[in-house]
Amino acid sequence: MTEPTIRIWPLDVMSVGHWRFGSTTASWAYHRYSGQAEFDPFPAYPHNLATVEQAVSHVLTRQRPLWDIDLYVADREEIGRTNGQSSVYYDYEYDDEGHRTGDRQVLAYILLCGKRIPPHPAMARYLVGHEFGHHIEWMLNRARGARHLQDDDLIREYAAMRGLPSASVHHGAGGNWHDSAAEIFACDFRILCCDVETEFWPHIGVPRPETVDGLDDWWSAAQADLNAAVPTS
Ligand SMILES: [Zn+2]
Repeated sequence: MTEPTIRIWPLDVMSVGHWRFGSTTASWAYHRYSGQAEFDPFPAYPHNLATVEQAVSHVLTRQRPLWDIDLYVADREEIGRTNGQSSVYYDYEYDDEGHRTGDRQVLAYILLCGKRIPPHPAMARYLVGHEFGHHIEWMLNRARGARHLQDDDLIREYAAMRGLPSASVHHGAGGNWHDSAAEIFACDFRILCCDVETEFWPHIGVPRPETVDGLDDWWSAAQADLNAAVPTS
């Protein structure tokens, strides 16, 4: 088995997008079993590929992933106007008696969206570290034997340890992205473990990770668990 990595793919949305009759957006699916992203056909600029490659090389020196991740660099903006997205798709695992014991990832991806104005290279570095942080949450669930890859128990524990309110255990929507514990987790990983764009702390009203007692130790233990786990791709 080769060491899992992050593979980078330019995404030419106008060429590979699917156009339904009556639609003004191009849809694209990472895989036939995955959800679809809808793209605005308005001209946009992708992140610089060389910058993305450097950012990926850097984060891989800080943490080995447990599975391969496909990272797409799109040349159009997704209609939700997000900067990036991540997801993992999985099959169920069963024991000999047919009881469901956990999930095993089959596909994992990161999407970096194009923007109408060329995005600054720092944004690419930030996003690579942040989106990798979302996968780290799911990988840690796997490494620690959680029943589901996207189990919120880990984020619940993390929020409590970090002194965040229980209401922070959500996945971010309009106007409350900044206080989502899952988003804070991803940015903590970016800063504490990857040392990437540390100046940028987009979680307004939430203490920076360097100021939280015990956070360094929590992440040291998390990285040790990840490094001790058996890769699954
Ligand atoms: Zn995020």
